Amino acid sequence: MAAERIIAGLSCSEVLARLGDFLDDTLAPDARAAVRAHVSACTECGRFGGAYASVVRALREATADTGGIDEATVAAIVGRASP
Ligand SMILES: [Zn+2]
Repeated sequence: MAAERIIAGLSCSEVLARLGDFLDDTLAPDARAAVRAHVSACTECGRFGGAYASVVRALREATADTGGIDEATVAAIVGRASP
């Protein structure tokens, strides 16, 4: 990944660490706003976040009958998807 950037008070790695919670809608409103502001202004996170979100959504749909995906699966996907 390109050099870390700090936008809206969050570094890229902090944004990636929060993406799962962001998609789960479990972040506090101010944290959620900061993630959204970072992703909208950061091309790296915007691209990766969009890809990550679509993968997570597809997996959730695919595993909806079995109770969703566990954190280890998400971590594996993120580890593999990281540039
Ligand atoms: Zn970023």
